[in-house]
Amino acid sequence: MDTLDESIDAARSLVDGAQAITVLTGAGISTDSGIPDFRGPNGLWTKDPAAERASNINFYVGDPAVRRANWAQRAKGSLWANVDPNAGHQALVELERREKLHTLITQNVDELHQRAGSSPDRVIEIHGTTRKVACLECDYRDDMETVLDRVRAGEADPPCPNCGGILKSATISFGQSLIAEDLQRAERAAVECDLFLAVGTSLAVFPINETIKVAHQTGSKVIILNGEATVFDPIADVVLHAGISETLPRIVRAVA
Ligand SMILES: [Zn+2]
Repeated sequence: MDTLDESIDAARSLVDGAQAITVLTGAGISTDSGIPDFRGPNGLWTKDPAAERASNINFYVGDPAVRRANWAQRAKGSLWANVDPNAGHQALVELERREKLHTLITQNVDELHQRAGSSPDRVIEIHGTTRKVACLECDYRDDMETVLDRVRAGEADPPCPNCGGILKSATISFGQSLIAEDLQRAERAAVECDLFLAVGTSLAVFPINETIKVAHQTGSKVIILNGEATVFDPIADVVLHAGISETLPRIVRAVA
């Protein structure tokens, strides 16, 4: 019989035996911090269709009203101002402390891994971050708060201070390509690791879900920890359908 405790033991043994672990995280690791998903019954976009429109690059670029509404919404108060990392994020910091972390790839845009203490140079934010702003024309980047201060001071749709271009949160919107360099780094991390750990992701988003396949095909062990089944469960050495903030600390021995 394959109980959860047995699966946790098996996952823990794989972690103990690994030297280079690549982790891929998704929304599920942040839900215990109070960050809702996007499309569920209480999802951000279910409750706020305007936010979904703003997340499409064509609407955002094409319609100044979409941008103004988006900046006004952000300036009203940071959506995630009072959000803190949880035990799941902390557990991955422990993995780094044990010198086992190769790379932490995240699909999340909340920067909670870095705020928990993960080294920024180990983290690949494959979908960018909402805590920074980027120009769509040039390489200008700055903190979100810096630009929100301009919004609060009266600029409804603040242009890039360098080139006058359109500014947007430094996330990858629908209709935008992933950053090629980030994707290549993620693929390399999948090849170079000896254990691939997928946490809180349904592994449904292409192309980043390919990393788990690459890791498996190049000889890595694979652990999947997620609330629900994923299409990649059949290739995993250990599958855990369990709560992340309770289970992940046990796998990485952050708790006894
Ligand atoms: Zn610019």
